Amino acid sequence: DPYRAAADRYAGTDYRKVGNSGLLLPPISLGLWWNFGDDRPFATQREILRYAFDHGISHFDLANNYGPPYGSAEENFGRMMTKDFRPYRHEMIISTKAGWDMWPGPYGQLGGRTYVLNSLDESLKRMNLDYVDIFYSHRFDPDTPLEETIGALDTAVKSGKARFVGISSYSADRTRQAKQIADSLGTPLVIHQPSYSMVNRWIEDGLTDALDELGMGAIAFTALAQGLLTDRYTTKGGGEQGPGRPSFTVDAAKNAEVVRRLDALSEIARRRGQTLAQLALVWVLRRPTVTSTLIGASSVKQVAENLKALDNLELSDEELAEIDQYAVE
Ligand code: NDP
Repeated sequence: DPYRAAADRYAGTDYRKVGNSGLLLPPISLGLWWNFGDDRPFATQREILRYAFDHGISHFDLANNYGPPYGSAEENFGRMMTKDFRPYRHEMIISTKAGWDMWPGPYGQLGGRTYVLNSLDESLKRMNLDYVDIFYSHRFDPDTPLEETIGALDTAVKSGKARFVGISSYSADRTRQAKQIADSLGTPLVIHQPSYSMVNRWIEDGLTDALDELGMGAIAFTALAQGLLTDRYTTKGGGEQGPGRPSFTVDAAKNAEVVRRLDALSEIARRRGQTLAQLALVWVLRRPTVTSTLIGASSVKQVAENLKALDNLELSDEELAEIDQYAVE
């Protein structure tokens, strides 16, 4: 069947500005790191994307090597662009990245100009796109001058292949330097993509302050700690089990102390009328610097559950203090 997006797709979402820019993102965005490679049924991928877009998720986050195999998430996304989303291209914010290993040899990873720009060209081909909305340097490269990496992002913008650029997992200091370089080139470096969750709070140690100062926004990744911060492993249970993916969560959840803490967090969520996954998302979104949080998902059911987090975004000081008793790094 030809896809027609739901008429009321924007009704339930309050879009949020990325830092001082004019770019609006939904509070919850969909990441395609896992579950969109060639190891998953295309029909399921398509259901998840349609459901997401029909419910206000206008932002889809990719990278060159998402799969498996590398490149296949972008290829599958490209097929969905062709089959379903072409008429809606201008209603979508699509991102990709270069920085981690993509192809063999010295020109297939990190932050050199050759790799970064070649990788973007290949990503655009795989996704059937002329441009991405956000192009990221996926990690800081200590062996390449930062001027070169940010200069490559600038070229991406000036050649019309990216509307905005971002950086991922850069330290506070490197973020300041990157922003200064970008400003000098006049390139819109507006967003930082860091890991952030109740159990991983490194960004609070200087990065969020830097982003506020620089007028940049953040989009958090692994806010669910790859499935650990859901009701999948709590005694109460009920969290949707996935098809399985490599992650640290399965081992962590074998530890009785971890389960005790997850149970306590899940109880805090229950008192709010939420699941643990919903509480985990609300927790990262409580900071104004965090414009959006990514979620990974292997089913429509997970996306639906996670989106309901938006029904109650308020967290009291008492709740925050209680969360701090159980959620430790
Ligand atoms: P998440 O913390 O978002 O975990 C997602 C996983 O949790 C899902 O795949 C699913 O596991 C499980 N899950 C999600 N919702 C529920 C639910 N309601 N109940 C039970 N289980 C649930 O981390 P990800 O690693 O998936 O990262 C999200 C995105 O962040 C990536 O797709 C990518 O876009 C980005 N990212 C960026 C990085 C970077 O370096 N910039 C690094 C890592 C991620 P299952 O699949 O087993 O069902």
